[in-house]
Amino acid sequence: MPDFDAIIIGAGPAGSGTALYAGRTGSRILLIDARPFPRDKVCSDSLSSAVIASIRDLGLEDRLLALDHVPVREISFYAPDGASVTVPVLKIDSQARATGMICRRVLFDEMLFQAAREMENVTVMDWCRATDIIVQNGRACGVTVDRGGGRMESFTAHVLVGADGANSFVARRMHMPHYQEYRIIAAQAYYRQVIGLRGHMEVHFPERALPGYLWLHPTRTSQTNVGLALPLEAWKDKRPRLEEVLDQALASPTLKERFAFAEQMGKTQVRILPVGNTLREIHGEGFLLVGDAAGLATPCSTEGVANALISARIAAEVLVQACRAGNTSADGLVSYPGLLWREIGDALQMSRRLLTLRTPKAIGSLIRSASRRPHNAGWISGVLIGSALPSDELNDLLSYLNFFNR
Ligand SMILES: Cc1cc2nc3c(=O)[nH]c(=O)nc-3n(C[C@H](O)[C@H](O)[C@H](O)COP(=O)(O)OP(=O)(O)OC[C@H]3O[C@@H](n4cnc5c(N)ncnc54)[C@H](O)[C@@H]3O)c2cc1C
Repeated sequence: MPDFDAIIIGAGPAGSGTALYAGRTGSRILLIDARPFPRDKVCSDSLSSAVIASIRDLGLEDRLLALDHVPVREISFYAPDGASVTVPVLKIDSQARATGMICRRVLFDEMLFQAAREMENVTVMDWCRATDIIVQNGRACGVTVDRGGGRMESFTAHVLVGADGANSFVARRMHMPHYQEYRIIAAQAYYRQVIGLRGHMEVHFPERALPGYLWLHPTRTSQTNVGLALPLEAWKDKRPRLEEVLDQALASPTLKERFAFAEQMGKTQVRILPVGNTLREIHGEGFLLVGDAAGLATPCSTEGVANALISARIAAEVLVQACRAGNTSADGLVSYPGLLWREIGDALQMSRRLLTLRTPKAIGSLIRSASRRPHNAGWISGVLIGSALPSDELNDLLSYLNFFNR
């Protein structure tokens, strides 16, 4: 008999989320993370309406709202030529008390991690790095960990869950294919004394960053989370230093005055983030991948927490059923990718297509058209950053816009 039903490697939103969902069923879970909690994570700190819907599903809305955060009800978009529009953020779960928020990841991830720790049947170990996967007859069945200072231990389980982020050790060790073209590169930094913030999210499209974008997110600590993200293929042609692209964008005519007295806090962080693609292999013999380990972030923004939590819910459902049925082979876990792509596959494909619209002309026209028709304005966030719109509506709109953009 293995030590646990499931061992979850990585305790970010995907890992803690899987532990919370699977833990509800009474399954015996081990949740480990290489770093001591609370731990920070490079992020633009925005939690979308879809994240809030999942948090409600987990019964953690009160705890979320108790965290230091900036509520987000509106988002402003700025075209390369300076045209701008402010639109309401669409709410996915009408019962939710928040639409969206900016919340530091150190707080959000700690809240999820502690909620998992409180479950009787979930054993939690931080500062505990997975150093090897135990494989028998081609099947993952356990993990060897370093609990600090070279203190090695091994644990076995029916199923392993790789929730270990963008550079997943589990995915590499289990020889999962690489998907080079499905990646974003992003640079992020915190600034103090940015002028003209109105307490909501801003998305800018400086020409030099297209088809990427730049964000300004106010946080509760009077610091502003500032960053820039673009598809890796677009960056690869010239390979500019991303820190410099960000500095140049902040010196552009639209932003220059707002950063005249700004002071950068700490260094600019550059990260590569795998993004969603329904061709990805995300399970195998005795294991599943969730969150960034499965490469589930949204291609046209950097948002990944919502899909991390959705994958956590579906992975937990599938692994619990597979354990009950006594079949945790790749066949026994095969419903995981099907269920996941059914729920988020269309939105991921759509998000990738939306990148084709990121031309100065199309962005300018969309923003001007939204400011003339405020009742349609909610659509613009769907089209510009792929949020909260049913994909059939987006599909129609996209065909129209592609035609118009020729
Ligand atoms: C610049 C940037 C901005 C972003 N902005 C946003 C945003 O505003 N909103 C949003 O929704 N998403 C954003 N994202 C994406 C988001 O951060 C990720 O999608 C999200 O963190 C995925 O959660 P996860 O649990 O899969 O991975 P992670 O949060 O990365 O957690 C993985 C965990 O695994 C642990 N780990 C790694 N290796 C091991 C090992 N060998 N053994 C044990 N533990 C291990 C790590 O310590 C870590 O705690 C951003 C990403 C970047 C790079």
